[in-house]
Order: sequence, then C-alpha cells, then structure tokens
Amino acid sequence: MTAPPSSSLPALRQLKLDDALALLDQAGALLPDAEPYSVRWLQGIIDALADLTSRDPLTGLVNRRSFEMALEREIDRVARAGEPALLLVLDIDHFKKVNDSHGHAAGDVVIRTVAEAIQQAVRPMDTVARTGGEEFAVVLPNCPSSFGPTVAERVRSSVEALSIAVSHGVVLSVTVSLGGAYAPQWVRSSPLLWMERADRQLYRAKAEGRNRACFEPQVDSVVSADEKSLLFASQLQEDQPT
Ligand code: GH3
Ligand code: MG
Ligand code: MG
Repeated sequence: MTAPPSSSLPALRQLKLDDALALLDQAGALLPDAEPYSVRWLQGIIDALADLTSRDPLTGLVNRRSFEMALEREIDRVARAGEPALLLVLDIDHFKKVNDSHGHAAGDVVIRTVAEAIQQAVRPMDTVARTGGEEFAVVLPNCPSSFGPTVAERVRSSVEALSIAVSHGVVLSVTVSLGGAYAPQWVRSSPLLWMERADRQLYRAKAEGRNRACFEPQVDSVVSADEKSLLFASQLQEDQPT
C-alpha cells in the first residue's frame, strides 16, 4: 500500500481519530508501526478497532456478536460442502456460589482461567467465545460425529482438573456442563436455531446432574450421494461467470 498524496493529508488529519486512539490506548492495543495518517497506518487503526469490538475484554475470547458471524460462515460451509461441524455450549456449574462466597473479583479469575482451559483443550482452528457471564461456546469445523464426545470430555475434564488460586491461600475447583449439536449437513440453518439446539442439550446436562456433556442425537443426512453431486453441479453452474 502506498501513502496518500500529500495533498490529501490535511483532509485525513481532519478525521476525528482521538477517541479511537484513546480507546485503543486504554485497551493496551498496539498502534500500527507506520507513518501516521498513511493508508497503512489508517488500515492498522481500523484492524485494531475491529479486533477490539470482536473480543470480550475479560477473557480475550471472541464475543457473542463475532461468534454469531463465525457460526454464519460455518453454516455456509456445511451447506455448500457438507462438512460436519459441531457447536458446543458450556456453562460453569453453580457459579453463583463462587461469587457469593468469594466475591466478584474471584469469580472473574475463575471465568478467565476456565476460558484459557477451554481454549487449550480444542484445536487452533476451533473458535472459542464467551457468549455471556459464565457461558462459553465453541464451534468446531470439520468435526466428525464420532469425535464430538471425545472433545467434550477433554474440555470437561480439563476444567475439572483446574486448581484456581483466587486469593492468598484460596484455591477453587469448578466444573462445567456442556451441550452439543451438529449443523444439519446440506441444509442451511441459522446461528440462532443452531444455538438453541445446543442450548437444549446444555439444559439436559444440567438437569441430569451437571459436570457432563449431552449431545443431540445425530440425524443422518437423507440426501443421497447422487443428490449431493447434483447439488454441487448446480452450485458450480451458479458460480460460472456469464
Ligand atoms: P448453574 O449450575 O445452574 O449454571 O448455576 P449457576 O449458579 O452457575 O447459575 P447461573 O448460570 O444463573 O449464574 C450465573 C452467575 O454468573 C450470575 C452472575 O452473578 C454471574 N456473572 C455473570 N457475569 C459475570 C462476570 O462477568 N463476572 C462474575 N464474577 N460473575 C458474573
Ligand atoms: Mg449461566
Ligand atoms: Mg452457571
């Protein structure tokens, strides 16, 4: 990228960037290493702001809005290519007790530590989000149904194994309940419907005693291999330039 012509610099300097720069500074974001007001510098500022608005400040995980966009992209891929994709939703068990007994700051340490454990237990290609107070979600692209319970168990057991030091001499353990649902293959779902299906399994895990994962029974695709190839053929025709 080249810098803008010097004649446009006065106009660029009129841009009200002070608030944006103060926000990035307060969030500890790195400012772009480029000539101020150059196109590269402005793009760096835009990228840093986009990153800031897509993340949860407590954990650094993707926030709910950004996660819904990731789900949208995954639904598109599943509908086009039929790749299986799993959505896991998680909720810390009896979390109110942590806040009530040890205070909100201790609760925040627990949320942060659980977030890190979830991130460590999944693949780098999986997107982990904090979707609410002590609620998380993970979307796992290209995840065969046989792998779902294995990955949920890895997440569950790694949270259970944590010893979380919340203040001098106070070490806590927590557990999580998980719900899992696959995106219907070859059919276009919506982030909301997919989340609702996973949530139903999470409620089931809570009702069945917590510290466990429940999965929606996998409905086998009713689309035959021949129909899939037809689907691809029509897709290719649509994509051809006219
Ligand atoms: P359950 O096993 O049914 O999930 O019980 P629970 O006690 O975890 O119940 P619930 O999910 O309703 O509790 C959520 C609590 O999380 C209530 C709220 O005070 C607390 N919370 C929400 N956001 C935050 C936060 O950012 N920090 C802290 N410390 N607590 C939070
Ligand atoms: Mg909750
Ligand atoms: Mg909870």
